[in-house]
Amino acid sequence: MFDQLLGNDRVKKLLRRMLESSRLPGAMLFSGEDGVGKKLFALEIARALNCRNPQGVEACGNCPACKRTLKINYPSGDDADDWKGMIWTDHPDVGLVVAPKRVLLVEQMRAIEAAANYRPFEGKARVFIVEDADKLNESSANALLKILEEPPPTSHIVLLTSRPAWLLPTIRSRCQIIRFSPMAASEIEKYLIQNKLASVAEARVRARVARGSLSRALNEDLDNFTEQRQAMLEVLEALTRGEDRLQLLRSAEQLNEAQYKDEYETRLDVLETLIRDVWLLSLGADAEKIVNDDVLPQLRKMAIGLDSTRPAIWIGLIEEMREQLVVNINRKPATDALFLTMAAASASALPPKRRYIIK
Ligand SMILES: [Zn+2]
Repeated sequence: MFDQLLGNDRVKKLLRRMLESSRLPGAMLFSGEDGVGKKLFALEIARALNCRNPQGVEACGNCPACKRTLKINYPSGDDADDWKGMIWTDHPDVGLVVAPKRVLLVEQMRAIEAAANYRPFEGKARVFIVEDADKLNESSANALLKILEEPPPTSHIVLLTSRPAWLLPTIRSRCQIIRFSPMAASEIEKYLIQNKLASVAEARVRARVARGSLSRALNEDLDNFTEQRQAMLEVLEALTRGEDRLQLLRSAEQLNEAQYKDEYETRLDVLETLIRDVWLLSLGADAEKIVNDDVLPQLRKMAIGLDSTRPAIWIGLIEEMREQLVVNINRKPATDALFLTMAAASASALPPKRRYIIK
């Protein structure tokens, strides 16, 4: 049942409607931050299609088919060779592929194509999941194109990514894109307490650290997060104050210091959630929707008088820079330029290339 999954009610409604009208696309791209449940949703679709005791269009969650679908037979070790093929669940019609190292391989895409061309062995449909689809390179993406274009009616392929911009346009255009939102801190907090995953006090802190992701809520190092967010709050403060170039260049430099090298992308993520929060506040949203609500007073102050088109532009600029990072631009000057362009950006001066719709 979709209701047993956390958050993303809009996606639940959409998927239910697709199942009800038997119009579930053969190729879907689930896009959204890590840890918001994209894979669980994909598996839930597989269960809904193959459940032996369906409740309307949804899975019962208890029959053998439902139970076996959630048992993924991941290889036990790190040996890349073990990860090169299809990883099956205990259900013979549901499988997934994971990049053995940094890229998804051509042979993995061929395995999906071959398996998708078979009729279901046991259930009504076959479902194949590509984890971290942003790890497709040009060859493996090309190997996947044909099956994405025209999957047999009984096969569904679901690509998962937290970096949709990294996918080739040819891949994106063949998939129905379904966007997952970060979860609200209040939802995560409730979930942690209800499922006894943390004490009440710890759940509160962990929900704030999560930045909309349940897996982060469970795994994040709390002290490290506080430090990262403080640094990014300073960047956002400088941005909202106008052109505080000195502070911004200092922040850019800090972001590039060797000790933070591995955290560079995480810090950009943190900055994006802060921008999103300020954006929502500038549009008059409820505090409930705010991810970083433990620093709400500071965020509110920044949102006062802020032209709400600016945060949209900032997020667009960060996303553009992420795309450039893929082709290995020099990070230091790129970060300086990013922060300064963000500071100078206003609706009239710099129309965003893409429109980012907030949900
Ligand atoms: Zn079932």
